[in-house]
Amino acid sequence: MASSLSFIPSIPSTAIAPRGRRGHCFFGALSPVLPFFLLSQSSRPLPNFRPAAPVSALLAEQETFPKPTTTPPPSLPFRVGHGFDLHRLEPGYPLIIGGIKIPHDRGCEAHSDGDVLLHCVVDAILGALGLPDIGQIFPDNDPKWKGAASSVFIKEAVRLMHESGYELGNLDATLILQKPKLSPHKETIRANLCKLLGADPSAVNLKAKTHEKVDSLGENRSIAAHTVVLLMRK
Ligand SMILES: [Zn+2]
Repeated sequence: MASSLSFIPSIPSTAIAPRGRRGHCFFGALSPVLPFFLLSQSSRPLPNFRPAAPVSALLAEQETFPKPTTTPPPSLPFRVGHGFDLHRLEPGYPLIIGGIKIPHDRGCEAHSDGDVLLHCVVDAILGALGLPDIGQIFPDNDPKWKGAASSVFIKEAVRLMHESGYELGNLDATLILQKPKLSPHKETIRANLCKLLGADPSAVNLKAKTHEKVDSLGENRSIAAHTVVLLMRK
């Protein structure tokens, strides 16, 4: 009975691709670990294959492949980071956005002051630096941060940015909330954000939009923010 595997090209058990081409050749790369049924069909070598060295010699050869190093990555001229945050809105809490208290019938229930804008700006900066997120650097189960002003987190993120040799290129943030209207407060929030970041106002942009009355954001039950930052090497 004809083997159902008869269509598979036969490869000698010791065949590998010519030196220098192995990384681009599927069979050549895999031949040392091919199943036995692929190895027993015929002894006729495929074109461009040559008899190989024993597997032990191949493994020894692999020792010369580049190994991971502990050398730090090159210092990039620019680094981009994105931050996102969302908090529930509950009656009985202050609503603080960008370090500014905004009059509203509810605010953010959070371990710190629940400043959704500052939290996502921190995450964007940390992300650009390739660092862990705000929750890992300032854990919400650490009593030290209970009720903490989020300006503390921003100052630390800015310190880490400068320590890493970067400065803010520009920042673009979008707040998403149904209520209250932010237009009367937007410039105050932006000015405070610039102050906290030590940034020129031309480098900091702030937008606000509703969520079209859809989902918790649109039903005045939550608030969210996105931020993108560009850092430049000093
Ligand atoms: Zn948050």
